[in-house]
Amino acid sequence: MPKFQPITKLKGTRDILPEDWPYWGYVYNVIEEVVLSAGIDRVDTPILEKNDLFVHTLSEEGEDFSKDFYSFDIGKISNDKKKKSDKTDGLTTLRPEITSGIIRMYIENNLSAFPKPISLYAIGKCFRNDNAQVGKYREFNQLSVEIIGAEDPLIDANLISLMWDIGQKLKIANLEAHINSVGCNECRPRIKKMLSEYFKKKQNKLCENCKKKIKKNPLGILSCKNDKCESVIAGSPLTIDNICEECKKHFTSVLEFLDEMGIAYNLSPNLVRDYDYYNRTVFDFTIGEKKQGFIGGGGRYDGLIERLGGEISPAVGFAVNLDLLAEYVKNNGIKIPKIKSKVNVFVIQLGEDAKKIAIKKTKEIRKLGISTGIAIGKDTIKAQLKSADKVNALFAVIIGQREAVTGTALVRDMRDGVQETVELEDLNHKVFNLVEERIKEEEAQVKRQRLK
Ligand SMILES: [Zn+2]
Ligand SMILES: [Zn+2]
Repeated sequence: MPKFQPITKLKGTRDILPEDWPYWGYVYNVIEEVVLSAGIDRVDTPILEKNDLFVHTLSEEGEDFSKDFYSFDIGKISNDKKKKSDKTDGLTTLRPEITSGIIRMYIENNLSAFPKPISLYAIGKCFRNDNAQVGKYREFNQLSVEIIGAEDPLIDANLISLMWDIGQKLKIANLEAHINSVGCNECRPRIKKMLSEYFKKKQNKLCENCKKKIKKNPLGILSCKNDKCESVIAGSPLTIDNICEECKKHFTSVLEFLDEMGIAYNLSPNLVRDYDYYNRTVFDFTIGEKKQGFIGGGGRYDGLIERLGGEISPAVGFAVNLDLLAEYVKNNGIKIPKIKSKVNVFVIQLGEDAKKIAIKKTKEIRKLGISTGIAIGKDTIKAQLKSADKVNALFAVIIGQREAVTGTALVRDMRDGVQETVELEDLNHKVFNLVEERIKEEEAQVKRQRLK
């Protein structure tokens, strides 16, 4: 009997096992490639932020999302006297999304001084303490892309096309974009009033959750998936019929640019974002059927930077759940390239004398800048060769009992198994040249494939 019950992971979290990681790694690589080639710069912001940041960003006039935050007061939970007296930070929160942190960073570091638009992206973990349903996680990996400082509808269309490119690269067959406009500071109050009045008349037909939204957040009702509410929503006034002329012009241009770029989209008059900082263009991405297939979305948030204490600046962004993309790639049999191990050479030995030589040679080859692995154990040469294969080594250096006596080593090309005997004193030089040549060859091959 074990002494302890093994400790298990927290509800709503998950492990990504070795057999699954390649899918995640592949998705990350594709995303970085697409996003970087669009001229967007990588940033990172802390996973922990002050709770106030998210309260200001997400919950100002709309709903209170703070119930879903992982927040804690370090002063209260710590026994450390010094930390107890550190009251300046108030509540600390695990970020529920990345946009808020990027905007805080933008303001705090005065990035507005740089030429606009400023294009930034971050990839990282986010946390939401909501009811973890099947297939939904409280900890998830997100990509967040933000373009700050441009009002041009072309920027909105470009962002949608960026997600499109990611989808194409990942070979997602049925990626769909859904788009709507929710108006601006000028026209939104009018739209909200109109919707409030409409829903108030039909409130008996709405779910309890929606009833609470009638006064403050009637736009939020539009996204309710309750069957009861859907028929009421179907008859509600549409935001795009009621936005102002300026908003209409902006929205029409976004659609025209999308047409121009050959990107298919669905006009979704009931599409709204949960967070109330969005204005004008909002969009969602789904894989296939709308309800189940949501993978991410975004929109314009021209007022958020000012709301967080920065100077007025238009901005637009989107976030996408990377776990859902990785799962899609895994579950749909999409071929991913073998993750390349960093080990180029694998040293294999048998016998005490050979082991000493092998350790010395491994160190020497590493010093030349060639990544080199070694198996130290009592395994047979065959088992060690398997290890070399597992790490995708380009070449194996085999030093057996006979080689140790004759002062030689076998160099084996792991691609075709061809071996040659090399004097130990020439080994480093020989291996260095072989690896250099092979890497060049592989790079050229990758280039050729890209040009195809
Ligand atoms: Zn407007
Ligand atoms: Zn409802």
